[in-house]
Amino acid sequence: MSDAIKTSGLSFRQSVDHMVDRAIQIMKLDTGVANAMKACTSVLQVTFPVEIRGKIEVFTGWRAVHSIHRLPSKGGIRYATSVDQMEVEALAALMTYKCAIVDVPFGGSKGGLFIDPGKYSRDEMQRITRRFARELAEKGFLNPATNVPAPDMGTGQREMAWIADTYKHLNPNDINYIACVTGKPVAHGGIRGRTEATGRGVQYALREFFRHPDEVKAAGLDGGLAGKRIVIQGLGNVGYHVAKFLSEEDEAKIIAIIEHDGVIMNEDGIQVQQAYYHKSETGGLKGFAGAKYSPAGDKALEMECDILIPAALEGVIHKGNAGNIKAKLIAEAANGPVTFGADAILRKKGVAILPDAYLNAGGVIVSYFEWIRNLTHIRFGRLQRRFDEARGQHIVTALEMLGNTTIPDWIRNELVRGADEFDLVRSGLDDSMRLSMQEIIEQRNRNSDIDDYRTAAYVIALTKLSRSYLDLGVY
Ligand code: GLU
Repeated sequence: MSDAIKTSGLSFRQSVDHMVDRAIQIMKLDTGVANAMKACTSVLQVTFPVEIRGKIEVFTGWRAVHSIHRLPSKGGIRYATSVDQMEVEALAALMTYKCAIVDVPFGGSKGGLFIDPGKYSRDEMQRITRRFARELAEKGFLNPATNVPAPDMGTGQREMAWIADTYKHLNPNDINYIACVTGKPVAHGGIRGRTEATGRGVQYALREFFRHPDEVKAAGLDGGLAGKRIVIQGLGNVGYHVAKFLSEEDEAKIIAIIEHDGVIMNEDGIQVQQAYYHKSETGGLKGFAGAKYSPAGDKALEMECDILIPAALEGVIHKGNAGNIKAKLIAEAANGPVTFGADAILRKKGVAILPDAYLNAGGVIVSYFEWIRNLTHIRFGRLQRRFDEARGQHIVTALEMLGNTTIPDWIRNELVRGADEFDLVRSGLDDSMRLSMQEIIEQRNRNSDIDDYRTAAYVIALTKLSRSYLDLGVY
């Protein structure tokens, strides 16, 4: 748990609950139903020994299941020294709301292992991960039908492949073993587009936001994404992809990137790919040639800019700095970057916030596609791609014959191209992000008690959840 959250007096879990409470009050939900929806269904804590360099080390991990109204329960596994039970529970709750907001038919879950991954070799990480996976599988917290993890902070494709393989060896008769975890490498049952998915989802969400001039104006902005001055915190998987896509495809300017060792700034726009290479080579941003460097990373959150994108830790915008934030729009690519106290200050200031439970849902949306791909045992597009190409070719031929003309190459190429898995994943992700944003905007504008996107998003989630609780009854 970050110091910021500690000093605000609320745990991350309480911060999330308080934000949800605002929606509960507006909806006048029955207290019993509300409490049932907020509570975590079950939490597993495991402690296990692994021999590291001739010595036994003991590791502690958690997996919290927040909801089971839909199965499997879904959510990442985090490797960090900030992990504790409270954090995992808060993140599991966020997963429930996230899935409901973007219409992914899963319950919410989250896991975490207290570990500093930087201290261990690849082989050690493999042994630790396989042991953790075994603990989870044996206790019913890893299963394609009921609980499906994914990457999160400190984990990636490699860990997911080890987890899937461990589950397979424990359950050789489960024909769907590969669906026990998502975010796997493509060669091991993963789906194209999963690694970039969260960042891509943030891009699609921002594009949709800027298609609504009234919302853009209400946030004190105008025009589209082109030329917008953006500050990004975190150049990990999510931050890197968001920064790259927005600068390379939407002509936005990344004027600052904040990392653990400080901030780099350039008013003309930072070359994100170069900064990413620099970070991969040196471990930080210091010494990057294409921008000015300062060690005062936290202070840079308060820089004058159009859009601030926290894409790293929770609780980085808190009561202590919320009043100084100058961004007009905050896009919560991380989970829980704005505390409950900070949220109130920012709302009063009129800063628009696109909330985490919606904005970073791209990861779980594409995880959903991966899970379906694994259950159907076929790559998306495999059956129809060549058929669509042949049909496109017929259309081109027919148009050319009828018009007695030749269709320009660029149109022909588009028409005769069948969609591959990448295209379909991006199209499905774009659709989900767009529709959910439209729903959130509509909800906010329809209800005069709601003045922010977060509450609107939670009202949408709770409406779906409470319907499911009330329809099925409490059992
Ligand atoms: N860890 C990601 C999240 O917090 C992805 C979860 C998933 O794909 O299940 O949303």
